[in-house]
Order: sequence, then C-alpha cells, then structure tokens
Amino acid sequence: MKLEDKLFLVRFQPDKQPHLHIINGDICLKECKEKPCTFFCPAKVYEWHEAEKRIQTAYEGCLECGTCWIGCPHDNIDWFHPRGGFGVMYKFG
Ligand code: SF4
Ligand code: SF4
Repeated sequence: MKLEDKLFLVRFQPDKQPHLHIINGDICLKECKEKPCTFFCPAKVYEWHEAEKRIQTAYEGCLECGTCWIGCPHDNIDWFHPRGGFGVMYKFG
C-alpha cells in the first residue's frame, strides 16, 4: 500500500490554534539554504513561499510524527502536541 493510500485513512480534528510555528523567519530566509523542513515532513506542512520569502505552515495536516523536534538544523520550529481532542486521528483497517 502506498503512503498516499495509507494517509487517506487518516482523519483530523483541526484546532483553530496552531500547535506549531516558525520562531524566526529571518533564519529561514538567511541561514537555511536547504530548508529541510520542506522535505522531512511526511505531511508537507512546510512550504517555501517564494513571493513572501517565508515558510508557510499548514499545521492542520500534521501527523504528529515528532520530526519537527529534531529535524530543523536551527531549532527554529516551536512544536507541541495539539490540545486534547484535536489533531490527527488514526484509523486502522
Ligand atoms: Fe526554517 Fe528550520 Fe525550515 Fe530551515 S528547516 S527553513 S530554519 S524552519
Ligand atoms: Fe510534519 Fe511530523 Fe512536524 Fe507534524 S510533527 S509538522 S507531520 S514533521
């Protein structure tokens, strides 16, 4: 089964309050050429917005895999678990 097919089984209860954010956009712009967050996130939460010169975040699709805690080489992502009752809901089968 492909990853896309597995992710189709996942459901979300998005919170209005984001559970992740970029701490300092200047670091993304000036000090992070590779922008690994745009690759390591399996849910593609992070995308570089060229016109606005910043990382856009689509936190609603976060799979809560925890990679944000270790993936950013500049420790520039503030990530915590969504509040109770919100976030990803995994379905099996
Ligand atoms: Fe910014 Fe970290 Fe993403 Fe680099 S990996 S673009 S510093 S959030
Ligand atoms: Fe993406 Fe995982 Fe970070 Fe959520 S915790 S934003 S799925 S890398």
